[in-house]
Amino acid sequence: HMADYLISGGTGYVPEDGLSAQQLFSIGDGLTYNDFLILPGFIDFTSDEVDLTSALTRKITLKTPLISSPMDTVTESAMAIAMALMGGIGIIHHNCTPEFQANEVRKVKRFEQGFITDPVVMSPRQTVGDVFEAKVRHGFSGIPVTETGKMGSKLVGIVTSRDIDFLSEKDRGKPLEEAMTKREELVVAPAGVTLKEANDILQRSKKGKLPIVNNNDELVAIIARTDLKKNRDYPLASKDSRKQLLCGAAIGTREDDKYRLDLLVQAGVDVVVLDSSQGNSVYQINMINYIKQKYPELQVVGGNVVTAAQAKNLIDAGVDALRVGMGCGSICITQEVMACGRPQGTSVYKVAEYARRFGVPVIADGGIQTVGHVVKALSLGASTVMMGSLLAATTEAPGEYFFSDGVRLKKYRGMGSLDAMEKSTSSQKRYFSEGDNVKVAQGVSGSVQDKGSIHKFVPYLIAGIQHGCQDIGAKSLSVLRSMMYSGELKFEKRTMSAQVEGGVHGLHSYEKRLY
Ligand code: IMP
Repeated sequence: HMADYLISGGTGYVPEDGLSAQQLFSIGDGLTYNDFLILPGFIDFTSDEVDLTSALTRKITLKTPLISSPMDTVTESAMAIAMALMGGIGIIHHNCTPEFQANEVRKVKRFEQGFITDPVVMSPRQTVGDVFEAKVRHGFSGIPVTETGKMGSKLVGIVTSRDIDFLSEKDRGKPLEEAMTKREELVVAPAGVTLKEANDILQRSKKGKLPIVNNNDELVAIIARTDLKKNRDYPLASKDSRKQLLCGAAIGTREDDKYRLDLLVQAGVDVVVLDSSQGNSVYQINMINYIKQKYPELQVVGGNVVTAAQAKNLIDAGVDALRVGMGCGSICITQEVMACGRPQGTSVYKVAEYARRFGVPVIADGGIQTVGHVVKALSLGASTVMMGSLLAATTEAPGEYFFSDGVRLKKYRGMGSLDAMEKSTSSQKRYFSEGDNVKVAQGVSGSVQDKGSIHKFVPYLIAGIQHGCQDIGAKSLSVLRSMMYSGELKFEKRTMSAQVEGGVHGLHSYEKRLY
């Protein structure tokens, strides 16, 4: 049979086809992700078998190679929690006070599946009207009441829908101490209770909410029956040795960032990212030395860099990972303004190829517009990928949705945009030298269309990466990387017309739904 003949290898020689990564980049042009494609390989496994485990830093490994960027429209605790649950990690931005940032880290580190640690809380002096309003804004009732109206204060009652359903507009002014169900009548659970035990207590009490209190009867968390029902497993979740979610945070390289660093470490941060658009500086090297001396266990990401020469200095100083990218971000005008930068495909390949000799993983940061770009970044040697715009406008991104021309949007802005820099001084540090008194923007401020929840979007990204690896014939990211460095992985340059061919074309109209 012809088929047997082919399989037995009798056809012999197959001519060389495509370029190795080394050949692709030896041409000398700077290449973006859109300038090349990967040639498909041989499939002998299903896509869900593809293992995406990859190094974030020298010491931290993730099951999903995805990172949310330290930007004030992308990563605060809600995003970082969601990213870590899905196997990636979030880096909390620093365009805020050190105290605020450390508290966001703490929320991630203290996160326990099913335990709500920052619910809406009210004081007994607040009114029924306040509850009506909270219900409109947050869509729920069952609000715990504490002496001060804050978490960590003595529990005095709870307001449920049963307490207020028969009240009307004329009762708006009534204080909650007269409307709430009082502490004596509440079923509570002690701090330290497991989710399983809490579940049983809720089941028996038939209540909607279970407050968790410490020895002083102070409220530390609350559990909602509705959450328990939708609780699911997160087999990929990124956790430390104490089973707490992993969390990163960005800092600058100024003197006062040392105070910020101390607070972040106290909050339990696992990795700090030194946030500079041009990381090859004496300031960053000094900061790396300082951190390595004071907190030798803390993982430090240096950057950003786009050349091996830049990377060398930071590797010599002792970084545990490098963040790669300059001018490729969606909101970025660095290349336009500063004349410096590099197309991202080339940056990733060049830096990763150098850094791997020292065991330093590379984070491909910025310019990721599609899941295909993620596959390309990983196939050029990046261990993980950092995203801003792709994760912006999800439910978990900071900020409120708004409508414009009937489209539901959230704001997304560069940290070097005037808009962000006017908010506080910390992001100025990334984009300005000390003593600069004229501001030069390196980013823009815009908006992105609603993407729904990270809990839906990241699984789509994961499945997409797995499919890409399957087409390539790589059953894991480490196989992908070794195929690339051995030259087995083949690339091809993409002409302008090839790029047009690769996109949707020739249709009168179409709808693009991705997942
Ligand atoms: P995106 O994923 O293409 O939106 O790019 C996000 C990345 O752009 C971030 O992780 C930063 O490295 C970078 N970035 C953030 N803000 C600015 C800015 O204002 N100017 C230039 N680059 C920025």
